[in-house]
Amino acid sequence: MKKYTLSTPVSALSGVGAAREKQLAKLGIFTLRDLIYFFPRAYERRGDVKRLSDLQFEGQESVILTVASEVKSAQLRRGLTISKLRAFDESGACEIVFFNTPFVKDVFHTGAEFRFYGKASVSGRRIQLTNPKYEPIIPGRELEAMVPVYPLTDGISSKFIDKITKIAIDEVITEITDPLPDSIRIKNSLPVLSYALKNLHFPENEDALKKSLTRLAFDEMFIFGLGISVSSQHKKRLIGVPFAPCDLSAVTSLLPYELTDSQKNAVNDVYRDTVFKDKNGNVSPMARIIVGDVGSGKTVCAILAMYIAVKSGYQAALMAPTEILARQHFFEVDSLLSRLGIKTELLLGSTTQKEKKRIYSALESGDVDIVIGTHALISDKVDFKNLGLVITDEQHRFGVRQRATLKDKSRTAHLLVMSATPIPRTLALTMYGDLDVSRITEMPKGRMRVDTFVVDESYRDRLLSFIEKQVLSGGQCYVVCPAIEADEEDRELYAPTSISLTAFDKANNIKLKNTLEYAENLRQKLPNLRIGCLHGKIKSAEKDEVMHKFSGGEIDVLVSTTVIEVGVNVPNASLMIVENADRFGLSQLHQLRGRVGRGERKSYCVLVSDLNTDKARARLEIMRTTYDGYEISERDLILRGPGDFFASVSDDSMRQSGGFEFKMAKLCDDSELFSAAFSAAKETVESDPDLTLAEHELIRKEVIQHLNPTLSTIS
Ligand code: ADP
Ligand code: MG
Repeated sequence: MKKYTLSTPVSALSGVGAAREKQLAKLGIFTLRDLIYFFPRAYERRGDVKRLSDLQFEGQESVILTVASEVKSAQLRRGLTISKLRAFDESGACEIVFFNTPFVKDVFHTGAEFRFYGKASVSGRRIQLTNPKYEPIIPGRELEAMVPVYPLTDGISSKFIDKITKIAIDEVITEITDPLPDSIRIKNSLPVLSYALKNLHFPENEDALKKSLTRLAFDEMFIFGLGISVSSQHKKRLIGVPFAPCDLSAVTSLLPYELTDSQKNAVNDVYRDTVFKDKNGNVSPMARIIVGDVGSGKTVCAILAMYIAVKSGYQAALMAPTEILARQHFFEVDSLLSRLGIKTELLLGSTTQKEKKRIYSALESGDVDIVIGTHALISDKVDFKNLGLVITDEQHRFGVRQRATLKDKSRTAHLLVMSATPIPRTLALTMYGDLDVSRITEMPKGRMRVDTFVVDESYRDRLLSFIEKQVLSGGQCYVVCPAIEADEEDRELYAPTSISLTAFDKANNIKLKNTLEYAENLRQKLPNLRIGCLHGKIKSAEKDEVMHKFSGGEIDVLVSTTVIEVGVNVPNASLMIVENADRFGLSQLHQLRGRVGRGERKSYCVLVSDLNTDKARARLEIMRTTYDGYEISERDLILRGPGDFFASVSDDSMRQSGGFEFKMAKLCDDSELFSAAFSAAKETVESDPDLTLAEHELIRKEVIQHLNPTLSTIS
């Protein structure tokens, strides 16, 4: 019998005792399989050896040097010893310094050769390496070119993981069966799974590593694509409530404006989905998202959809992420549709019990046609007489689960989602899962452009007087900061892109602006202004109150985190300031900018950033010169790679529903790969809708394992 299998516990390995076993468990490693699937978070390119004279003094660099002197150690003060030696290569010499590692005197002896990897600095012509990692050059033994760095927990070193992973791979890698059908693998020039897994841990060279990462990223996208394709195939076989043909001009003639072509297209899509019958005389439940820039007029599309539902004898529900938005929608819908005899109610968490009861029974009896509200709508107590249409606004604020819960109130109801996040076409499928997409690509006529400026800290004083000027002339101002309070940890707003080995940027030591200090500072500097503060730690009732005051003009300047991102409408706001603007995704900046310029007032957006890298400047320059959300998202995609989008999809879906996690895909910088994986998935499902063929057995298992919590369509 074989000694090890994939499911052998790690404790069976020599060197893994009870303590180590516990530490490994913390990293989610219990078996040899877990170990193989525990990937490095980065690689040190130690094989990229430079001559001393070619050092760049940037990041970590690798040199091969001969030791020129014995180590000299000195105690500088209590608890601080310094050890120094000199070493050279054919291009020059340098000093190597170690702190608090006196034992190095037994490691380095004159004449020995080592590979050093670490941070080099230069002052004058003296080169210094500080605390480098070192490996002796031993004839006949090759050093690794790429050394993996593992995510660590206390007590476990990268070296140790390296050691036991090597055993796991040597012993059991052959047991791993490749779920991907050969035809798909070959068509996409991908290596076999065992090769990829092995090379992720012990890359033969950079090319092998890249191929391996690509393979694993492909797998994730492919499995996700399969889940989506299976789920939408499945939906097409369901039967939804058929809506009746009706004349929409009854509503449009009441509008003070003409719909844009984009709006008309979106409404036509909805009409076709819900009214037109297929060849069997059925209508499948609509699952559609309308994506349109902030201010592009999605609400009226939703109103028309609700009108179709009500005219067909069904009820409609619209769920918004905040009470403010729900109220806003309610007034817009009711003022229009009440004129056509349609009855709309508003249901919020804060609605009184008595009022709630009245609304519940009116919904059940069918006395109410439309209900608009917040999460309160998904309460068990809400029952409909005949719910035909569910609409959710700003999907990012809802989990897939919550949307599903509202939708569960009627299995046959149609679903319409509205989102203002412009996603590049190539990625729409991932972001929106199994929804069909309608895009609103034009803005209503006569919108004024929000002039955008990019400035640094040296503009601080001018910025203050600009705020004051806006307020004194009757406007209002938003300030967005990345952090809530002073010592908040410097969390990444977007993950570093692409393992493609370039992007393990060191954190740039720029202090983040935080809402609390910022608001306090403004109160001191501009004592005549009324300053409000809003962030995620504030209770939602209080949040709504602050927003309410701001929209009512009782607050002049609102300092907040990105909680205001979602579609609030304060037409009087004329200035948006975003601090540490480089920390935000471009689409997010675009969303924030869309909060101003909604009324008569000439409006401005000021992006403050002190990060002076080419990339940061290039990104903010896009914001300064581009006003079209899609163009911004496409250009952001080119600059950032699709990895960030995967990161945000998986963060969202993980947070919200324990959904799918893109571990590798979020590191991928290749959009083509993404399209290839999705077409492969689509073709696979077209040929085998339930993945029941023998060759699909393994991928079917993976889909069930990874996706059923979110999509739940195969069993
Ligand atoms: P969003 O897409 O961000 O939800 P809204 O639906 O709130 O945008 O619309 C923004 C504003 O534009 C509203 O005041 C709405 O009345 C107005 N609007 C919508 N469509 C048009 C149009 N075709 N022409 C002029 N104004 C429009
Ligand atoms: Mg909106």
